[in-house]
Amino acid sequence: MLPIERGLEIVMSTAKAKQRPDWMPAESVALLDSTHRILREDIFCDADSPRFDKAIRDGYAVQFEDVAEVPSVLTVIGESRAGAGANVTVSPGQCCEIMTGAPLPPGANAVVMVENTEQVSPSSVRILKKARENEGLLRRGAEARQGDKILESGRRIGLPDIGLLAGNGKSRVMVSTRPRVAVIATGDELVEVDQEPQPDQIRNSNTYTICVQLLEAGAEPVVLGIGRDNLDDLRDKIRRGLEHDILLVSGGVSMGKYDLVETVFAELGVEVLFDKIAMKPGKPTVFGHRGNSFVFGLPGNPISTMVAFHMFVRPLILLLLKAENTSPRIFDAKLEAAAKCDPERAALVPALVRFDQGQYWIRTAPWKGSSDLVGLARANALIMIPRRHGTLEPGESAQFLLME
Ligand code: AMP
Ligand code: MG
Repeated sequence: MLPIERGLEIVMSTAKAKQRPDWMPAESVALLDSTHRILREDIFCDADSPRFDKAIRDGYAVQFEDVAEVPSVLTVIGESRAGAGANVTVSPGQCCEIMTGAPLPPGANAVVMVENTEQVSPSSVRILKKARENEGLLRRGAEARQGDKILESGRRIGLPDIGLLAGNGKSRVMVSTRPRVAVIATGDELVEVDQEPQPDQIRNSNTYTICVQLLEAGAEPVVLGIGRDNLDDLRDKIRRGLEHDILLVSGGVSMGKYDLVETVFAELGVEVLFDKIAMKPGKPTVFGHRGNSFVFGLPGNPISTMVAFHMFVRPLILLLLKAENTSPRIFDAKLEAAAKCDPERAALVPALVRFDQGQYWIRTAPWKGSSDLVGLARANALIMIPRRHGTLEPGESAQFLLME
């Protein structure tokens, strides 16, 4: 059995060796469609940010020297509002009414919040609190200068990035083409979601969770349905699946009499590089390749499939997408209660994590094993318990994957 890290190394080095420059070419998409995709161009500020000296408070633009002593009464000479600056220059003894986002009139060098003022007459105001130079405003270019690089190619486009792209006039964005990933569920016991299972059947849930994980990772799922536990059906579906960038088959990879997926992989010329990982759940994870396709046999149990996807499939997809960061997203926490270890395999167990006093605290949550989606849904993380004898003690550090 291979340790998780070794399995991941094999996946990544196989992908690197196969990767051709024309794989996952860049394509232009509409701004909103770029969410969570991998950026393939550097983005530069199209103008200073902010574009002009601007108020970040509602109040009065003043010369700070005038309010060194308070209270101080100033003459109001105009109004600067967002979208319509005042055509005035503020001189000593004067101020200009101003709103958040409005341009600072020349001559002014601070903005006093309206809460710290008192109207004396329609044309004068009493300032009640001192202001420092540049208080209540942002100078032109304080955030970035025109031409500054603000986003780098390879970045996964997140929420602030969408705002930056919009703010800099990028209505279309260059991103990596999404790899097409075939998804096959296997099992004679499976029925579709809209069907009523007979007493010995269950509904196919893996196809759905895998699709969600694929979309999150930035790939395009192609659902090929349910393969039955016989060589003919599996051969037919797997052959079609091998026409995609990646093929994911869930179930049929453990030691049971009807676990035929590896047999079919071998028949169809898939070179299998590993088929067991020292991980619990997720031991019978299979990885191989044929031609330009990568192939995974993911263990059938719902949580095993999710974990194996997170550990091995997601990093591969990110690599194909030319993302700068391909590692599984793993965080550190302190353990709140003891957790039992397994001497043979690293364990991933549903856990409850909370943030308190500047760090994450974690404890395992009750569950009934690798099919228990109910238990997982009540948790918010998967804790990684290292392979070793004994237990992890309270206060020890532990790593986890966020499930939310
Ligand atoms: P297998 O690896 O095929 O022996 O499957 C292991 C367990 O996972 C069995 O209890 C299966 O019924 C279950 N399972 C396999 N595929 C799916 C699926 N697509 N959705 C939900 N459960 C599944
Ligand atoms: Mg099965």
